Order: sequence, then structure tokens, then C-alpha cells
Amino acid sequence: MTSALPSLIVLGPPGVGKGTQAKRLAERLGLEHLSPGQLLRDALASGRPLEDNVRAAMAVGELVPNEIIDRLVQERLEQLGPQRGLVLDGYPRTQQQAETLRGMLARLGRLERRPVVLWLEAPREELMRRLRHRAAQEHRPDDNERAIARRLELHESKAPSLLATLARWTDVARIDASPPADLLTEKILNTLRERAAAGGGATSVGEQPMLAGSSRRPNSGSMTWAAIPVRDELPPAS
Ligand code: ADP
Repeated sequence: MTSALPSLIVLGPPGVGKGTQAKRLAERLGLEHLSPGQLLRDALASGRPLEDNVRAAMAVGELVPNEIIDRLVQERLEQLGPQRGLVLDGYPRTQQQAETLRGMLARLGRLERRPVVLWLEAPREELMRRLRHRAAQEHRPDDNERAIARRLELHESKAPSLLATLARWTDVARIDASPPADLLTEKILNTLRERAAAGGGATSVGEQPMLAGSSRRPNSGSMTWAAIPVRDELPPAS
């Protein structure tokens, strides 16, 4: 048994594909996916009572108050099985949330292994293109031009201090997220493998290889980045 549970944190501007990648990584690596944005949307859709200001804040692209987000994350973390690693998606977004998260992970014994931050980046035109496409498909209330502009602005204004804070206790990988989703997933898995091979967080290399294409969830407690198979369809490096 290992207590060095993997924690991945997927961050980036709206439209960069955080949610898609976080979900896929969770599946591929047998980790729990935790997205405060999705939890909030689910809660609103199911009519669960939430503070009045939550719906309003989300609709205009503002951040939801820290107390609410932190509580959501804390609850989920506490429910997580002791052997379950996790992928955080869109959290933390501010320096303060990062400090809170660090405390929560430390108290739960989840900092024995340095978390990996996947900082996804793409040119603004590409983000706008993806967001417009999603707006047409999903009808998210915050995918209107004004809310999008505000979410982008908030991301850009918080990014420098957030990155600086995270760099103190995580391993930050900045990733060009312009490739299509499938390629990007493979690229991220490769990045994780390379980091593991270089010694970053690979505390239990080879204990339990991931079963590619299998629906069986591996025991994430002994999952390692280095155990991810490189699939044949990876594009040639160019
Ligand atoms: P996106 O990153 O594309 O804006 P998310 O689903 O991650 O999409 O977030 C949607 C909205 O949920 C945000 O605009 C914000 O209102 C709220 N939200 C999500 N995560 C956080 C967070 N960590 N802190 C504050 N608000 C958040």
C-alpha cells in the first residue's frame, strides 16, 4: 500500500478544455474527478438550494465566493476513499483558494506526493472559437460574450499570483492546449510520464500498470504516472 496518492490539478482559461481533459485523465488514470464548476451547475439544475448570489455570479462570469467553493471541495475531499487519487478541475483559481487547498490536502495526508498542475494555454482566438462552438451546443448560461470576456479577464488577472503560489508546493507543467482533444490527452499523459521518469512524483513506479481501453478502474492508490502506457496512435513528434 502506498499513501502517496496522486493529485492532478487542471487549470486554464475558459474554453481551453479543462473539463474535457480532466474527465479523460480521471478515467484513464482511475482517479476521482472533482470540478466545482460542474458541481455548481448540477446543484443549480437540480434545484438544490444554494446561496442566491451563486447563480447570479456564475451567469455574469464572476467567481463564486470562496467560502462556498472551499466548502464544496472540502466535502468532496473528505468523502473520497483513502486510496483514491484525484483530478481537480478549475480549482484553485485564486491565491487564497490555493492556500486553502494546500491546508486541506496536508490535513488529509495528500501532500506526501507533490501534486502536478497542468496549466493549459491556448491563443485567445482559439478559446473564443471553442467557446462559441460550446455555446451553440450546450447552452450554458455563462457562455455569452459578456460573461466569457469577464471569465477570461479574471483568469488573466489571477494567473500570475496563482502560478507563483502553486509553484511553491506543486509541479507546474505549462501545456499548449491548441491540439484537438484526443491528441491533447495523449500529450498530457506523455508529459506526466516524462515528469515521472525525471523523478517528479514517481514514488511507486510500475506497481500497477494502467489497463488501456479497459473499463475496469485500477486501484488508484497504487497508480503511477510512469505506469501509463504510451498508445500506438501517438502522433510523430514534429
Ligand atoms: P470555466 O473555467 O470555463 O469558466 P467552470 O465550469 O470551471 O468553467 O466554471 C464555471 C463558473 O463556476 C465560473 O465562472 C465561476 O462562476 C464558478 N467557479 C468554478 N470554479 C470556481 C472556483 N474555483 N472559484 C470560484 N468560482 C468558481
